[in-house]
Amino acid sequence: MATQASFGKGRPPSQRPSKVCAACGLPFTWRRKWARDWEQVRYCSERCRKQARRPA
Ligand SMILES: [Zn+2]
Repeated sequence: MATQASFGKGRPPSQRPSKVCAACGLPFTWRRKWARDWEQVRYCSERCRKQARRPA
């Protein structure tokens, strides 16, 4: 049985993509509700999104 160590493509389902929240700076992982627009997701939660929208 050969082990395929291919990073980039052919990711195993258990290894979901992750990002860092632009508001709180905490890492968060892919969720099903973001399946459609994961590339546009920048915040870990609705709260962070609203918080970031607020002018500092
Ligand atoms: Zn956040």
